[in-house]
Order: sequence, then structure tokens, then C-alpha cells
Amino acid sequence: MTAADCLFCGIAAKTVPARVVHEDDALIAFEDIRPQAPVHVIVIPRRHLARVSDLAPAEASLVGQLVVVANQVARRLEIAESGYRLVINCNAHGGQTVYHLHLHLLGGRPMQWPPG
Ligand code: 5GP
Ligand code: ZN
Repeated sequence: MTAADCLFCGIAAKTVPARVVHEDDALIAFEDIRPQAPVHVIVIPRRHLARVSDLAPAEASLVGQLVVVANQVARRLEIAESGYRLVINCNAHGGQTVYHLHLHLLGGRPMQWPPG
């Protein structure tokens, strides 16, 4: 999978439609097409990076930016006080299905633990 045929690169480029809830120069956030909770938002960097384990130490702040935006969206969607879960799935056993780094923001209901 390269950036050219990546689904989330398509969403970032607006060639694939999505319900966008945040965008800035570096990141875009949109509603998950198959929500697992009343609030399920995906936050991605515009730049293609296949998986979190590819993150170089020099670009560690990228994950911080994903979290900051997820926190902002959580406040705006009024789930900040009740609580929410942030998830990054990595590779097959992590449950990753789209190979463009993304952070899941899940909320609006109590979450279970262990996550399964
Ligand atoms: P992963 O399993 O890789 O951690 O998460 C990928 C997420 O992308 C899944 O929750 C899935 O529902 C979502 N997804 C897959 N295809 C699309 C799509 O075309 N549009 C949107 N908005 N979400 C998608
Ligand atoms: Zn991509």
C-alpha cells in the first residue's frame, strides 16, 4: 500500500468523501464509516505513514498532535467529561485494517476492559 492507493490519503485529499469534523495543515479528522460507539472519529496526519511502528523518533510529536486534536473534538462533541478512549491499532494482531496511521476517538458510552 502506497500513498497513491491509500484510502485515508484519498480522504485527506478530498477525493474520497467523508464527514470531516476537523482539519488543519497537518491533520484531518472524520467520522468512522462503521462507528463502534455513538462518537467514533478517526484522526490522521495528512502525510502518509503506514503504521505507528514506522514513527521515527524525530517525528514523535505527530502522535501528540493527533491526541491534541482528538481532545479538542471530544470537548466539542461533549464527551470530554463523561470520558472516551483513544486507540491506535498496529498491524494484524493489533486489529489494523487501514494502513495509514490513525487514532480512534471513541465515546458516548462506557467502554469495556479488557478490549478483546
Ligand atoms: P483500523 O481497523 O485500521 O484501526 O481502523 C480503520 C477504521 O477505518 C475502521 O474503524 C473502519 O470502520 C474505518 N473505515 C474504513 N473505511 C472507511 C471509509 O471509507 N470511510 C471512513 N470514514 N471510515 C472508514
Ligand atoms: Zn495514506
